[in-house]
Amino acid sequence: MTVTPPATLPVLDYFGVDALIDEESRALREAVRAYVDRRVRPDVAGWYEQGSLPVRDLARELGSLGVLGMHLQGYGCAGTSALAYGLACFELEAGDSGLRSLVSVQGSLAMYAIHRYGSEAQREQWLPAMASGTAIGCFGLTEPDFGSDPSGMRTRARRDGSDWILDGTKMWITNGSVADVAVVWARTDEGIRGFLVPAGTPGFTAPEITRKLSLRASVTAELVLDGVRLPADAMLPGATGLSAPLSCLNEARFGIVFGALGAAHDCLSTTIAYAGSREIFDRPLAAYQATQLKLADMTLELGKGFLLALRLAALKDAGTLDHRQISLGKLNSTREAIAIARECRTILGAAGITLDYPVLRHASNLESVLTYEGTSEVHQLIIGQTVTGHAAFR
Ligand SMILES: Cc1cc2nc3c(=O)[nH]c(=O)nc-3n(C[C@H](O)[C@H](O)[C@H](O)COP(=O)(O)OP(=O)(O)OC[C@H]3O[C@@H](n4cnc5c(N)ncnc54)[C@H](O)[C@@H]3O)c2cc1C
Repeated sequence: MTVTPPATLPVLDYFGVDALIDEESRALREAVRAYVDRRVRPDVAGWYEQGSLPVRDLARELGSLGVLGMHLQGYGCAGTSALAYGLACFELEAGDSGLRSLVSVQGSLAMYAIHRYGSEAQREQWLPAMASGTAIGCFGLTEPDFGSDPSGMRTRARRDGSDWILDGTKMWITNGSVADVAVVWARTDEGIRGFLVPAGTPGFTAPEITRKLSLRASVTAELVLDGVRLPADAMLPGATGLSAPLSCLNEARFGIVFGALGAAHDCLSTTIAYAGSREIFDRPLAAYQATQLKLADMTLELGKGFLLALRLAALKDAGTLDHRQISLGKLNSTREAIAIARECRTILGAAGITLDYPVLRHASNLESVLTYEGTSEVHQLIIGQTVTGHAAFR
């Protein structure tokens, strides 16, 4: 039997990737895509322009969709494969990196920290509400003077009887000012420990960071802890040392491996359609060699990145994914995605600088995605150390 291939191929179909994705994960991907098409695409440019996101409403909807903490087991979480989680991140970030950030911080940072390091009482108290989106979490590790090197953190927790007193400042915290609970990492006499700080605790405030030019459809805040008194059971009992917050970051980085490619895919498919309909010198822009060279290279990078992402998902689902392998994906996906977004912008010409098309919005968002969860340079250093044996961080 001969099969007639379609005249043109959607970018990822070209790579035959669906054959590597199980049916359940594909169904979930379609459900998330349909949600983003219906609920996010019509409004996201407006949210971006206003610098706001209806976090509470979206969180409840995302909870109903089953994507909050979706790869965790029990406590109302969906318990899906890592692959399904990655594909959901791809579709969410095709809508906007701010949407995927909301889901990543909730599920991979805040919920994962409580799930893995919390007491049974802490899990029961927070996880079902967070999975349903009725409670929102944030994750406070970065400080004004310590981003890439969180080991220098100044936030301190000291004992006062059986209570803890927390003092310090966290910076650039996604969901910070809308969160019901903040997972805060602090230095103690026993090393770095994690604490659950409910919103409204006296001495705890979360002023929003404004004037952002990137991730505008996302809430970012400072966390100020001024003599915050917490009971002994506010501490995460299982988390000792910096390896605990770093393990949470690895979870979120995995989502970014797929997510950044979703943003790139949205740019590229928008641009291919635009170039097909834009007439320049009496011919479609897509018919010029100079355009096709760009589109071909971007298609190739997107497909290569997706194949790497699928491989990392397979390793994660097999339980053998090493954090140094996640660095390969986080670096590649973010670096290639931002390059694709910028190249797509050139093809759109002046139209590309507006919010009428998603391309420059994605490119601006990807500036943050390139920086958070370990900058590109930090991931290069991790890869460099892995292949040479020499640590070059200091
Ligand atoms: C929108 C947004 C949301 C965020 N959300 C959160 C959140 O929810 N929770 C949270 O805890 N944090 C969050 N962050 C913070 C983020 O993780 C940090 O910004 C990131 O770790 C980088 O830290 P920094 O900004 O202090 O940069 P710095 O660490 O000051 O880095 C500046 C530059 O120095 C480079 N550099 C660092 N070390 C080396 C080295 N050894 N050799 C060579 N170059 C080096 C970096 O790559 C970078 O280019 C968020 C950031 C943004 C922008």
